[in-house]
Amino acid sequence: MIYADNAATTKLDKDAYEAMLPFLLNEYANASQPYSFSRKTKAALKKARQMIADCINALPEEIYFTSGGTESDNWAIKGLAFADKEKRAMITSAFEHHAVLNSCAAIEYLGYPVAYMWPTKAGLIKADILEKYITNTTRLVSVMFANNEIGTVQPIKELSTMAHSYGALFHTDAVQAVGHIPIDVQDLGVDMLSASAHKFNGPKGVGFLYIRNGTSICSYLNGGSQEFTMRAGTENVAGIVGMAVALQKNCENIKNNIAHLYNLERIIVERLNKCGIDYIRNGIENGLPGLLSLSFKGCSGEQLLHRLDLQGIEISTGSACNSVKTEISHVLTAIGLEDNYAKGTIRISFGKDNKCSDAEKIINELIHVIHAL
Ligand code: PLP
Repeated sequence: MIYADNAATTKLDKDAYEAMLPFLLNEYANASQPYSFSRKTKAALKKARQMIADCINALPEEIYFTSGGTESDNWAIKGLAFADKEKRAMITSAFEHHAVLNSCAAIEYLGYPVAYMWPTKAGLIKADILEKYITNTTRLVSVMFANNEIGTVQPIKELSTMAHSYGALFHTDAVQAVGHIPIDVQDLGVDMLSASAHKFNGPKGVGFLYIRNGTSICSYLNGGSQEFTMRAGTENVAGIVGMAVALQKNCENIKNNIAHLYNLERIIVERLNKCGIDYIRNGIENGLPGLLSLSFKGCSGEQLLHRLDLQGIEISTGSACNSVKTEISHVLTAIGLEDNYAKGTIRISFGKDNKCSDAEKIINELIHVIHAL
């Protein structure tokens, strides 16, 4: 099998796996207990928090462990909305992940006004777009770091600067970016940042929310006093330890990983450009390394996915078919891609473990399948 759907999830890193093992078997103490058996789990949480903070230039007390990207996004949006009932207006983009879009829909239902910015055709939310929506009554601006379907990386520093100049806070869903491109929360000036371990070779069901010290936010999961009394629930110690090791490892190798991923992309794009197939590469400007969103005119993305699957190649589509019609994804709709290209969209997302021979095999099979169809 060739796995090229790393934007959906990644393989657990072996070092992360090994670091987790003691906490699954012998070191199973509840970190909140005062007895000596809990010392190791408590120390492991402390170390993991510091390791993660170092990777994004945060303070350890600004890292809150969660169950993943979905929870972090829900917390950032709902927690902020409920913290200030006077200043209620929120702004996000129309091509966010549903963890953000549906959280916004939930607060809209409770009467909070939410505005949705439309990206450019290139898949970017530039500061001049935000300027058209933002006012002094805006409480929060939430724009994703990198889009999960087309890979465009947004100008986060410019957006957070603009949000602050209007007295608003800034959140970014960085689930696709953390561990893949360098992130410095101080330099970017973000107030909150969501991340998910399984997107950077950590385990599933664990993530974190960075919350800048002093940010006024309500807790989202109520219960015990874990996570500085802000996020209740017994900590997933093994998952948190695995997340920290995976992130540290990815960050240490980030330059080499990026160069390798761009090389894999180049293999695909060079062959495609030579073979005369009519296609568009979405989000080409400022893209996430290793992610290719390709739209083939007159093709069906579903058919391409299944034909490649038969050849042992795992990729994803940009649309979902049901028996009645093909639903174009909200991201492709937001960038205004024509239907006859949008329906034929696939996403290839390479990871650090993919080899050049994987890219060559994928492009050979893809060209073959498109000609055959
Ligand atoms: N945000 C983005 C941009 C994502 O790509 C994903 C997962 O696909 C999520 C949020 C949700 O993360 P999780 O799977 O950890 O809940």
